[in-house]
This record gives sequence, C-alpha cells and structure tokens, in this order.
Amino acid sequence: MRHVTLKSGDKVPVLGVGTWRMGERKGERAAEVAAIKLALDLGIRLVDTAEMYGEGGAEEMLSEALAGRRDEIFLVSKVYPQNASRKGVLAACERSLKRLTTDRLDLYLLHWPGSTPIEETIGAFETLHKDGKIRNWGVSNFDADGMGSVGGAPNGGNCTSNQVLYHLGSRGIEWRLLDACRKADVMVMAYSPLGQGPLLRKPALKAIADKHGVEPAAIALAWVLRHPGVITIPKAVKPEHVRANMAALDVKLDAEDMKALDSAFPPPKRAEALDMT
Ligand code: NAP
Repeated sequence: MRHVTLKSGDKVPVLGVGTWRMGERKGERAAEVAAIKLALDLGIRLVDTAEMYGEGGAEEMLSEALAGRRDEIFLVSKVYPQNASRKGVLAACERSLKRLTTDRLDLYLLHWPGSTPIEETIGAFETLHKDGKIRNWGVSNFDADGMGSVGGAPNGGNCTSNQVLYHLGSRGIEWRLLDACRKADVMVMAYSPLGQGPLLRKPALKAIADKHGVEPAAIALAWVLRHPGVITIPKAVKPEHVRANMAALDVKLDAEDMKALDSAFPPPKRAEALDMT
C-alpha cells in the first residue's frame, strides 16, 4: 500500500480504519472486533481511535481486535481538549494505553482546539515522546490559523498531522488548509471521507463507480487519496463495506472522472470556516 512518510521517518499507510461510534454497545462488540480483524486480514495497518469513542469503549474493543498484531499497526488515538493540560494529557495517555493494552501510541492527537494554551499541550506531547509513550503527535480540527499557532509555539514544528473533515461534499480545506499543512510537512488525515454515508447515493458518484466496477465508497476514498500527503480512515462495521473500501486502492480516476466529480461536488469558491462533525 502507498504510504506517507512523517517527519520522524515513520511510514503511515494511506488507507486505514476509523472507530467512531464503535465500543458504545456490548451487543455490537463481536461485529466490531470482526470488522477490524477483517480489515487487518485484507491488509489494513492503520487504525484511528480516541478516548472519546464510546468513552474508552472503542479503545477497549481494539485491545481485543488487535491482540497479537499490535506491532504491525500504526495506532492513532486522541485526547479530549478538556484533558489537554500538562497533567491531563499525561494521565489521559496512560488511560488510553491501558485500555488498548499497549505501551505506546504511534500518533497522539489533540481532538479539537480547546481553552488550554497550545504551548502547554505541546509540552506534554513532547514529554510523552521523550518517555517513549508516543512516537508522533499532532492535532485535529485545526484550521489554517490554528496550524499557524501550533507552528509558532515552542517545538510546534514537531507537529506531524492534522486530522480534519474532508469528503466530496465538504471541500473547504482545499482553499488554504491543505496547502498550509503541505508547506509545514504536516500529514492531513481525512475523517468522515464517506460523508458518513448519504453522499454515496449521489447519481454522479454511482455513474463513475459503475464505470470502474466498484462501489461508490471506493470512488469517494480514491478521490480523497488523490492528494499526496493525505491519508484517510473510513469507518465500516459491515463486512461488505470493509471489502468495498479496500477497492479504493486500485482506482485511478481519470480527467473525465475528475471533471464529473468537480461538477457534481464543486470546490470552494471562497474561504469557509473549517467544517467539523
Ligand atoms: P465515514 O467513515 O465517512 O462513514 C461511516 C459510515 O459509512 C458508517 O455508517 C458505515 O456503515 C458507512 N460505510 C462504510 N463503508 C461503506 C461503504 N463501502 N458503502 C456504504 N456505506 C459505508 O464517517 P466517520 O465514522 O465519521 O469517519 C471515519 C473516522 O474518522 C471515524 O470513525 C473516526 O475514527 C474519525 N473521525 C474523527 C473525527 C475528529 O474529530 N477527529 C470526527 C469524525 C470522525 P457501517 O459501519 O454500518 O459499515
């Protein structure tokens, strides 16, 4: 699989899986574990989670799903902004490691901007890095100005990633943020790349999917992955969804496809506030 190389030299596969809305209900755990295991069997090596998802439940579910395979995985988790103080980050990371039954995260993100000065959060991330608890750190839901504040803070240049909403139906980051991240060598992780589902019913997407002999989701993902330095983490529990998403890696969108997609899902004409779920 194609990958992006971080400032640290670590390599991150461009396609992974997300876990929001997982780990919330006991009755769904077996299906969730099976979905993650299927994704790994099909070659996925990037898994995204957060202390927020199921209030720790998604991390606990992953502990089971990744058992015996942790070392093969690039594992990402996130800290709540309300835990972003120095003490708060160190404690939250310990809790995540415990729930995930691992000794380190490959990437740890501030989930969204909060009221703690970013310098303090970065200081805590740097301590965790020095102690070997995290290999890389980054942010999520930061707009171009926010990325400027990160870059200007002490050690802010060590920020390796910004995880933001990006899909065919929400292209605001193309205006400025994508470029700002590229210039700072910050990997963009596109979240909700399927627009959480409804987007996939658009006829224009279906037509291109039929042409390539794949599901609309594979086109939506291949479209996100057309940018160098951008990776993505669709969430899927249904096995047919997990399989359909893998096909994105083999799709090559041509000029005609891109024109049709631009016409059905126009790029931004002006600066927009960063979209979030
Ligand atoms: P998404 O990946 O865009 O969409 C997930 C939905 O699409 C689920 O309902 C899933 O159904 C369905 N789906 C998956 N594959 C499909 C396919 N091939 N065909 C049709 N439907 C399909 O939305 P998301 O979960 O919001 O985003 C992905 C991940 O990004 C999250 O899980 C999370 O890890 C991360 N995220 C981060 C933030 C942040 O603030 N940093 C915010 C949101 C999300 P089934 O599950 O039933 O298969």
